[in-house]
Amino acid sequence: MNTQGTDLATFSFELFPPKTTEGMDKLKLAVEQLNAVRPRYFSCTYGAGGSTRERTFETVAWLRQQAIDTAPHLACIGSDKDEVRNIARHYLEQGISRVVALRGDLPSGMGRLDSNTFRHANELVSFLRQEFGDQFHIEVAAYPEIHPQAASAKIDLVNFKRKVDAGANAAITQYFYNADAYFRFVDDCADAGIDLPIVPGIMPITNYTQLARFSDACGAEIPRWIRKRLEGFGEDKDSIRAFGHEVVIALCQDLLEGGAPGLHFYTMNQPGPTLRLWEELALSHADQ
Ligand code: FAD
Repeated sequence: MNTQGTDLATFSFELFPPKTTEGMDKLKLAVEQLNAVRPRYFSCTYGAGGSTRERTFETVAWLRQQAIDTAPHLACIGSDKDEVRNIARHYLEQGISRVVALRGDLPSGMGRLDSNTFRHANELVSFLRQEFGDQFHIEVAAYPEIHPQAASAKIDLVNFKRKVDAGANAAITQYFYNADAYFRFVDDCADAGIDLPIVPGIMPITNYTQLARFSDACGAEIPRWIRKRLEGFGEDKDSIRAFGHEVVIALCQDLLEGGAPGLHFYTMNQPGPTLRLWEELALSHADQ
């Protein structure tokens, strides 16, 4: 296995802010279990247009109270610069030094786009660097299978480079099930002079209907052979989970053996599937 896959690697877990008190209680239990394996950090999503603002704040504040390294996501589209400045200050006051800087997808009718609001993630990265210097380690999003709104792979790479040139430290990818797409993207980045860790985003497979819905929305491809097999299991959840686990383990192994600088797990606030992957892959941070 390539050394980047272990000692220097970053293994992280993504959460979303729950909508209900019951969801928050479940999240706390999930974090307790997930944190036992000592990921590098937890990230927490943020709804574009501020739709989850208070819930993200609440979840992030709770994680910090547990002394957990936390990287809040910040989705900027349609957000006012003063508002983003205040949010970033609020995070610095809590000792947070890592953020995931995103554009986000604005729900229709929400937010406005004018000269004081952000349109693309590179503008957010520039703004954070301008206002806060090097106080934040900034992660940005990357799309090995091409962002769904990009006119071409080439243009998407040019736009990805804008975020890197604006001062991003690392990138986390959209999830994918085709390792070749990732390796090709990493090679294209190297050819374009982009030199930062690009950590694959890993989505465990546990529920076919939900996965198909997410994948349609975000442009992630479920290869035909995987889709057909998952469809064939119908409501048999155990078989879906067992097959999904096998597929994702093989993917993670290929990625780490090929030199991926870590893995970022989209946990969906469910500890089980991610922990099974973690254990079977025997992941750990050697320096902790
Ligand atoms: P950008 O980098 O701005 O790119 C968006 C599109 O615009 C691309 O097609 C790109 O090619 C193009 N583009 C970029 N810059 C320019 C430019 N300067 N001029 C012209 N075109 C440009 N969404 C949320 O709402 N909340 C979250 O918490 C969240 N977390 C995420 C975490 C990860 C790891 C990932 C991969 C995605 C996440 N998303 C989240 C989804 C993300 O917001 C969407 O994929 C969104 O459509 C693009 O965000 P971005 O930051 O990649 O945008």
